[in-house]
Amino acid sequence: MMERSAFLRNLGSFIVKTDQSLKAIAEKLGWNAKKLADEETLVCPYNSGHRVPIRRSEVHEERCRLRSMGIDPDVEMSVKLEGSEFFYQKSKQVVTIKTG
Ligand SMILES: [Zn+2]
Repeated sequence: MMERSAFLRNLGSFIVKTDQSLKAIAEKLGWNAKKLADEETLVCPYNSGHRVPIRRSEVHEERCRLRSMGIDPDVEMSVKLEGSEFFYQKSKQVVTIKTG
């Protein structure tokens, strides 16, 4: 029987290699993680006729939630800014860098 720590080491390198080869295959096919995420969609919980890309689902669901309460989301959303950006938006010293 293989020693436990040796087994775990092998398993670890297997996972790394598998991950690398999956990435290599995906790159050859012209995919990347972001593109794949873009293509995955969810059904909107407020309207089953809506198909929403996962990365947009939070915003979409919030809009549909407001709409279901009779609130115009465009009016409501216009006062909301992403993250803490609103706090710095007038500051020349702080530059907003978007990571996502
Ligand atoms: Zn919706």
